[in-house]
This record gives sequence, structure tokens and C-alpha cells, in this order.
Amino acid sequence: MNWSFGFQNGKPARYWMILLFFSVSACAQALDFGINKVRYHDHWQWHVLETDHFEIYYYDPCEKLAQAAARDGEAAYLKTSRLFNYVPQPQNKVPLFIYGTPQQFQETNITEEYLDEGVGGFTEVFKNRIAIPMDGSYYEFNKVITHELTHAFQYDLIYGEGWRSINLFKSVLVPTWMMEGMAEWNAQHLDGQGEMVLRDAVLNDQVLPLGLLNSFGHFPQVYTAYKESQSILDYITQVYGADKVPEMLKRMANNQSADAVIKNLLGISEDQLYGNWHFYMRTQAWARIKGLPQPEKYGDPLQEGVGKSDVSPDGRSVATLERQHLGLIDSLTKNKTGLKDDSFNKIGRAHV
Ligand SMILES: [Zn+2]
Repeated sequence: MNWSFGFQNGKPARYWMILLFFSVSACAQALDFGINKVRYHDHWQWHVLETDHFEIYYYDPCEKLAQAAARDGEAAYLKTSRLFNYVPQPQNKVPLFIYGTPQQFQETNITEEYLDEGVGGFTEVFKNRIAIPMDGSYYEFNKVITHELTHAFQYDLIYGEGWRSINLFKSVLVPTWMMEGMAEWNAQHLDGQGEMVLRDAVLNDQVLPLGLLNSFGHFPQVYTAYKESQSILDYITQVYGADKVPEMLKRMANNQSADAVIKNLLGISEDQLYGNWHFYMRTQAWARIKGLPQPEKYGDPLQEGVGKSDVSPDGRSVATLERQHLGLIDSLTKNKTGLKDDSFNKIGRAHV
């Protein structure tokens, strides 16, 4: 699936979804054709909380969440407006729709497309509407607001403000690594898991050159692509200065190729940038683990190929997620119980 930005060969490419930019944990398998969206909550009473720069839409149990969104959203707006050195027209407030749980978010009618559980939020390009669920963590909620708001500003720069049904035919190709990397970079969205995944990917040749990141379709785990893109912009910030990142976006929005923008702004080619970043990351990673014993010295491996895992509060079980397969490992006996019910894939719901 092509996740590149805009339209190709003069034809709209997959209209909606191509233009949605999913947050961190989104996955390229988000679009499961044929899965119907079920709405259990068509009785919701929506309210609007207006702030200086947002119209925040929420339903009854989410009033406190709306207030948190107002606080976090305004702070993110100030930060992002400074970053782009750009202030949208006051009448163009950002519509921000918040949902109390990821499951309720999946019922959104802002898009008719089925949203996989991995989608942590989205910004649609026609009206700059942002939709975000609360997944239980205010930290994540805050980061996702900043991430999606960055997309809203990016769209303003690329397509202009206001409703954009015509402007979207402008042929602009900003690589996904720039769009998503910048959103993560601006949100400073990096935690222990992100660092671990990226370090592991760098050491095991699971990262890819920028030329292959126009879309994220080459990655089996799209999360890695987000973290690589963010890390490359972090590297640019450290070596060349933070002001280079918004300038890169602005030039790409004016239809300059990524390679030309990098050459003009940083004085090196796109491939050289990737090579320098890769060398830096490997050096950092090796320096951290130099002299340490192999992981096997600390304990026996439980299972390979696990994408996500979590330990139960009593420490007796480890829940694992390996692609679409759930498992449970008894930490004492190491017995594995696979939750192999394939209906998981069909209904698209499972919780580790
Ligand atoms: Zn995004």
C-alpha cells in the first residue's frame, strides 16, 4: 500500500486514507477492506468547548478529558506555531474530536474507513479535523495531540487554510518520513520502548535509507519507520540546528525534492545524511553495550519474535503479542498458552 502524500499521476490516490497521517503506533495494516465499522453509541450527546485556537468536541463522560485537551492543545498550538513561524487565521480554529476509549474512537464517523486498534489518532486533510482517543495515559494523549496538530500545520502550509476540496489537487509529494518524522519530533515522543526498538533496528539492519521512506510500506513494523524518521530529524537538530527541520518541510511543500532540499540546506546528499545518521546511531549503540555480557547471561529467552509484551501485576504471567497472535507465558513454568482464536483477526479486537 502506498502511503505517499498527495496525488499521483494527476489522479487522486485512495482519497481519504492516503491523506490520513496516523500517529505513532499506527500500522500499515490499518485498512482492512471488508471490515464493517460498527457504531454502538449513536446516542452520544456532543458538546463543544471553545478555546483560543480549538473547537473541542466531546460527549458526556469526557468533560474532564476535554479540559485536559484544551490545556494540552493550547500549549501544543503555541509551540507548533512558533516552530513554523506561522499563525493561522483566528477564525480557522482546529476542530478536535476526543473519544473516551480507543474502542469508541473506532466508531468515529469523521472517516468511514475502518480504523485498526493500532491507530492512535488522525488528522484529516479536508477540514483539518483531528480525532484522538484516550488510551489511559495522559502522557500519550498529550503527545498525540502535538503529533496531530503538527499535521494540521503541515497541511496549512502545503494546501493553504480553510476547506480544501480543490486545493488538494495540487500535486505535492512530501515524503512520509518528513511528515511523520516531524510530527513525532515536534511532539518529542520518545520513550524507553521507542529507543529500544530503534536501537535494535539499527544494530540488526532493520532500518532503511531515506529513499525508501517516501512511504512506510517497506517496513514490517511501521512503528520502526516512525522512530527512524524522528531520529533522523533529531540528528539534524543536533548537528545542523532545529531551524533546519521546519525549513525542510517548507521547501518540500514548494515541490522541491527531498534530495535537493537536503543538499541546499545541509550541504550533503540524502544518502550521505542517512549514512552519517546510521554511523552515529551504531556508534552510540555499541558504546552503550560495549563490555556487557550477552542477554542470555541474565536469563533464558522466553520467546522470539515478540512485538510487544507486558508482565502481569503479580509477576506470574507475561502476555505477548507477535504480529496478530496473542500468547500468555507462565513465568515460573515457562508454559505457553497461545490465544489462537482466529476470530481475533476478524473482529479486530484483542487486549493484552
Ligand atoms: Zn502522523
